[in-house]
Amino acid sequence: TFFKEPPSVSSRAKINGKPVFTDTMDYVLQKKLRVWCSSPDATWELGQIQSISGDDVEILLVNGEVLTLSPERLLPANPDILDGVDNLIHMSYLNEPSVLYNLQFRYSRGLIYTKAGPVLIAVNPLKEVPLYGKDFITQYRKKLNDDPHVYAVADLAFHEMLRDGINQSIIISGESGAGKTETAKIAMQYLATLGDACGMESEVLQTNVILEALGNAKTSRNDNSSRFSRVVRRATGERSYHIFYQLCSGAPPLLKKKMFLKEANYYNYLKQSACLRIDGVDDAKRFSMLVDALDIVQVSKDDQMKLFSMLSAVLWLGNISFSVIDSENHVEIVSNEGLATAAKLLGCSAPQLVNAFTARKIQAGKDNIIQKLTLTQAIDARDALAKSIYAHLFDWIVEQINHSLGTGRHHTWRSISILDIYGFESFIKNGFEQFCINYANERLQQHFNRHLFKLEQEEYIEDGIEWADVEFVDNTDCLSLFEKKPLGLLSLLDEESTFPKATDLSFANKLKQHLRGNSAFRDEQEGAFKICHYAGEVTYDTTGFLEKNRDPLNSESIQLLSSCKCELPKYFASVMVADSQNKSSQSAVDSQKQSVVTKFKAQLFKLMQQLENTTPHFIRCIQPNSKQRPMLFEHDLVTHQLKCCGVLEVVRISRAGYPTRMTHQQFAERYGCLLLQSIASQDPLSVSVAVLQQFNIPPEMYQVGYTKLFLRTGQVAALENGKNQM
Ligand code: ATP
Ligand code: MG
Repeated sequence: TFFKEPPSVSSRAKINGKPVFTDTMDYVLQKKLRVWCSSPDATWELGQIQSISGDDVEILLVNGEVLTLSPERLLPANPDILDGVDNLIHMSYLNEPSVLYNLQFRYSRGLIYTKAGPVLIAVNPLKEVPLYGKDFITQYRKKLNDDPHVYAVADLAFHEMLRDGINQSIIISGESGAGKTETAKIAMQYLATLGDACGMESEVLQTNVILEALGNAKTSRNDNSSRFSRVVRRATGERSYHIFYQLCSGAPPLLKKKMFLKEANYYNYLKQSACLRIDGVDDAKRFSMLVDALDIVQVSKDDQMKLFSMLSAVLWLGNISFSVIDSENHVEIVSNEGLATAAKLLGCSAPQLVNAFTARKIQAGKDNIIQKLTLTQAIDARDALAKSIYAHLFDWIVEQINHSLGTGRHHTWRSISILDIYGFESFIKNGFEQFCINYANERLQQHFNRHLFKLEQEEYIEDGIEWADVEFVDNTDCLSLFEKKPLGLLSLLDEESTFPKATDLSFANKLKQHLRGNSAFRDEQEGAFKICHYAGEVTYDTTGFLEKNRDPLNSESIQLLSSCKCELPKYFASVMVADSQNKSSQSAVDSQKQSVVTKFKAQLFKLMQQLENTTPHFIRCIQPNSKQRPMLFEHDLVTHQLKCCGVLEVVRISRAGYPTRMTHQQFAERYGCLLLQSIASQDPLSVSVAVLQQFNIPPEMYQVGYTKLFLRTGQVAALENGKNQM
């Protein structure tokens, strides 16, 4: 028999109170199978067990070297028949090195897509790969190709939408440069072809050109990174949004004159990061492509002019400068070209701008007093206005596009939403941005878990097998750590942000005081705290939390916008007022009191609500190396992302269930030859059951469904080994 002694049982894993075999090392040792050896530099090497003496295992590595290790440093490797399987769920041993090896095996053969259960993993090829275009689209439409692909995900979403009449979503996550936006475009390309019948293909695809010009920028990790808020400041070597450089270098002379445009290096906002160009990108040419795209999606010339003049206004705002006038650092504006031109473009007077940036009204009891601003406050007020105009401009152009594509001509019954969202982040130093991003990812993970379990359950029930909920580590504790009122991270941050005397340190201490004892919270050294996220523990440094959480746009700036003669600034002011009135009964003047995390949470909840009403499809993008070079596969980096994307979590969930599923037919065909005695009935089910019995596979290791056999992890390897020994 194969199991002379039962494999060791992990004490943690239990389903229905029955133990699950998760550690088959004893068996692997006994049979001298292939194993992964962990080396001191935290990488893994493949080898074959040669001999065992006491606690020492001698292993022959692939490169001919022989190692002696203790069994704790080993993990079972899959039989080579499973090399490069297109769904990780088919692997007998689901451990980190096996997953990594499998992805690399496929990647090196140009197979950048792999499934992990229902999730598509996409490893960025960082070069053009021959996997897209009309022929491939046709193959997937006609179901002639069943290799994992973004097209297959989009196709499934489309057909489920038609079949069930339910809206769909494709949720794409991953770290910066991993390929989310490219993947989103590939999905759109497929869907646009399906929608071609209504003549929408080119229009829908052109929206990407516009959104990328306004929403993407060069960073150190990605020349075309989807970003937020980098209008006024960013790291050296990075750029602001593409559209500024396109406009400065591509606008024809007449437009330049009308918009008072200069070269990019004339503007403080653009030149401050010492990077005006991207290798291989012609900004002027991109500008004419942008205008073509705006024309194609039918944004009127009039609206295009409004867009360009606001962009120019933002640039000129950055050229407004201040001079200190007294010992308390109070300022006055230097009357320069920046001031005059920004005022002209916004449709206000120079004194109005001066007023907004040099003083603010403060309520003291029943009276209003005027407080002069210091240099830092004045710069903050100016920059906040520039950022706010840009953010509202972005929303406005999206509205114009939606209006032009959506209403009248095309009646939409059902939708497929594509979400290109920033993945979980864990750096050496993590701040307010990571705090917000990781909070959003906790919510998405919860959504993901719920969906995944539902799918698992459905498949088991459909095939009539016994099933009770598999226990899994859900992230409710972590979410409640963020959201609990009044003693959750968000509430405490908001509370502290309203105290004028509070500091980042007092905020950190407050967290410790109230959240100590919470299972997802850990104390850290001064000014820091730790959260246990689904993807691992992250230490946050509270430096800058309070400042970043307070919205610095002052009421003077909102009033300034509302008094402008130009249509857009007026409109932006009305949106700001409406926003603040929706969320509280406070007046527009108080709208700056809405903190950044409060707004973030409201947007996140709106997003989650939209997603809850859809059938989700998940794509996790992986960056294979940190050098943006094709074919290079850095194990540490990929492992880290697999953890962050929750891919190992999916794999873990699958482990707790029955990861191997084969139809009775497939199983009988593959393993029937192993039968030592002939049996009466030759039907696939009888043959399969006889094989399982002959190999003494314990009953808790498999279930027989109506059409399929469901096997626990590791079982196929035992049978494969039997085949090899024939
Ligand atoms: P960010 O979070 O910074 O926005 P991202 O995940 O959206 O990053 P992308 O901009 O989609 O990353 O991809 C980065 C680069 O990787 C692309 O500019 C492209 O060069 C390359 N790339 C990504 N996916 C593919 C693909 N499927 N085929 C070829 N190249 C790709
Ligand atoms: Mg992107």
